[in-house]
Amino acid sequence: MEKPHSDALVFFGVTGDLAYKQIFPALQALARRGELEMPVIGVARSDWSPEQFRERVRDSLEKHGGVDEEAFKKLSARLQFLSGNYADDDTYRRLRELLGASKHPLHYLAIPPSTFELVAQGLAKSGCGDGARIIVEKPFGRDLESAQSLNLTLHKFFAEDAIFRMDHYLGKEAVENLHYFRFANTFVEPVWNSNYIASVQITMAEQFGVQGRGAFYEEVGALRDVVQNHLLQVLALLTMEPPQGSDVDSMRDEKLRVLEAMRPLSPAELVRGQFEGYRDEEGVAPGSVVETFAALRLHIDNERWKGVPFYIRAGKQLPVTGTEVLVRLKQPAHPVFSADRSCCENHFRFRLSPDVMIAIGARTKLPGQSMVGEATELVAQRHAHEEMTPYERLLGDAMHGDTALFTRGDTVEAAWRIVDPVLGNAAPALPYAPNTWGPAAASDIIAGDGGWNELSIEGKKDDPK
Ligand code: NDP
Repeated sequence: MEKPHSDALVFFGVTGDLAYKQIFPALQALARRGELEMPVIGVARSDWSPEQFRERVRDSLEKHGGVDEEAFKKLSARLQFLSGNYADDDTYRRLRELLGASKHPLHYLAIPPSTFELVAQGLAKSGCGDGARIIVEKPFGRDLESAQSLNLTLHKFFAEDAIFRMDHYLGKEAVENLHYFRFANTFVEPVWNSNYIASVQITMAEQFGVQGRGAFYEEVGALRDVVQNHLLQVLALLTMEPPQGSDVDSMRDEKLRVLEAMRPLSPAELVRGQFEGYRDEEGVAPGSVVETFAALRLHIDNERWKGVPFYIRAGKQLPVTGTEVLVRLKQPAHPVFSADRSCCENHFRFRLSPDVMIAIGARTKLPGQSMVGEATELVAQRHAHEEMTPYERLLGDAMHGDTALFTRGDTVEAAWRIVDPVLGNAAPALPYAPNTWGPAAASDIIAGDGGWNELSIEGKKDDPK
């Protein structure tokens, strides 16, 4: 049965930072494509006039991608502002009035996580939740227990297929690409297992620090900010079994299965780091032990991945900004070219940002008499940037009721189960100098597997997220 298209967008947290940086540009892009033929109601405590609201949107667009006058005109004609506190029943009563004949509103909760429950309840009690969908921004919980509790609360008011847990990383073209490449190519599957793969590593490096958001980061740290969500989701896409069907739940079932097969992290396989100078940032406690860097080793206890180590490394103030997956293949047991010492290192490399690249590492013979070669890369795909921003893609999908690129409740919990044992101060936060690859100990956990992939990306400072 075809799912109804949303007929109103209600945007909680419209005066916030995320709205300003990401959502207004995404809404303009949707308006340009004719995908925003509905009222857009912004809700916040502030009491803005319609003009103030429009000015804020224009200002956001000027700073983030530019104003497209025609699309902006369409967008502004749809904007309405509702001032009200989320704790106040009257806010939802007035919202119901504003929604008028709307039968399938999409409620986007771009608000502090502490208010998710309040708003979900307010929507349900007032009738604004009837026939509606709800998008919940990250973070989804702070640990396993809080994620379970949030799932329970949301399920009291909304069915699972009406809940869209946002992990904007899954809306990235490069991440979908990786998934496509894996299952669309016959030559990949035969080697995609412990017989041929020696190790898999993912690095998400940020050249910048906390960018004035020290108070926010103090509550989060690298494990919660990017590992539990974005990077474990990427790892699940890399390692899941082929889905049994082409429907959304077949894929989500396989993601769940592989996350459940990942061993919970142990402090012995984790290195936490903190860049020197972090404690001087505004909003950061002088004795903070929050990690701005994490390097970890994971294991998947199933037939396909028995014995293969998986490494994840994420950090701030590193030498470059970029995200890459490197899949190293095993060397042949009896190398034919024994004189060629580094023969026969093969790999797959997937760059997710700042540009998009898929490459296969191979060796070719150097001209001359001896059978000695050099490393080369066959670049299967390379393009500079994404067609659509993740927020544009995901908002459009949610309006269509398409949950494929959103995280299911049980999958979020499975990912928390993996990181839960090492949250907090499970391993010391070792200091590291800015512009280095984190504490020296991070190299030790991968030393036996060829070391970390040093991303060869130049001079980019953009946020890879
Ligand atoms: P902000 O603190 O900048 O904005 C919060 C918004 O919520 C404001 O519009 C505020 O309204 C409104 N609000 C808060 N409490 C109430 C209340 N009781 N009643 C009515 N309105 C209220 O947050 P962000 O925009 O930074 O983040 C929003 C969500 O998005 C969070 O879940 C965050 O984790 C997530 N996120 C943010 C990212 C970012 O880059 N900022 C990146 C990824 C996710 P008012 O200003 O009028 O008080």
